[in-house]
Amino acid sequence: MENNFNSCKSSYESSSIVIFGAPYDGTASYRPGSRFAPNRIRLESIGIETYSPYLDKELTDYNIHDAGDTTINLGYTDKTLDTIYQTAKQYYIDNKKTLMIGGEHLVSYPTIHACLETYPNLRVIHFDAHTDLRDSFLGEEMSHATVLKKVADELGEHRLFQFGIRSGTKAEFEYAKKHQYIEIAGVKTLPNILDQLQGFPIYITLDVDVLDPSIMSGTGTPEAGGVTYKELLNALLQLKNLNIVGADIVELAPDYDASGVSTATTCTLIRELLLLMTK
Ligand code: MN
Ligand code: MN
Repeated sequence: MENNFNSCKSSYESSSIVIFGAPYDGTASYRPGSRFAPNRIRLESIGIETYSPYLDKELTDYNIHDAGDTTINLGYTDKTLDTIYQTAKQYYIDNKKTLMIGGEHLVSYPTIHACLETYPNLRVIHFDAHTDLRDSFLGEEMSHATVLKKVADELGEHRLFQFGIRSGTKAEFEYAKKHQYIEIAGVKTLPNILDQLQGFPIYITLDVDVLDPSIMSGTGTPEAGGVTYKELLNALLQLKNLNIVGADIVELAPDYDASGVSTATTCTLIRELLLLMTK
């Protein structure tokens, strides 16, 4: 049994990209289960090809290291987030690009925070069904529902670009329209913002529930009206000439999809994200 993602077996020292898991779902408000995603993804990743016909690139041509999972203290959110931050920070200090596998969406915060410390001009592209822009949720400031607001507060205005969003409060949508960028329920305007991304370091945070539940039922908070796989893939391919320094894929909860399609789909998305980061 392999304990790394697909063919990604390079040593840490030789690698340009580090994969790591952050299997925390402690603030899940509806259905938990994303804690099982990183290992299931590694297990199922042997079922996909190392070659991307879309990018005409091969994973085995690049040095990619799978570092395994960070230590998680379930029930201790602050401690867990600090561990993820320290982990990601070290990778950026060592001049690695990162691909993190969640876990719930909150795990993106400490990683993006570490990335922003290294790359102060960072721009963040966010694919999701949900705004995740609340100031607090169920009395908690640290939650999967607040994560992008915390990121946005650190980035400043017009540096967060949201796509596929179709669920949130009126206030969240108003904030996004006024202070950041949002495309409601779609990804087709992504080419329009490329000039705002060119020349800047980019972080991509991909909540798998951006996809329609008909193809991504394995997630904690499914939301009808999502984008197709091809729409999402085509949007990602638009980013291939940008300087992507970090990415994550979060909210896969594999046990809600007995068919395994959600996990297999996530594996191919990870392959494309990794190959988008290679130079
Ligand atoms: Mn989310
Ligand atoms: Mn979501």
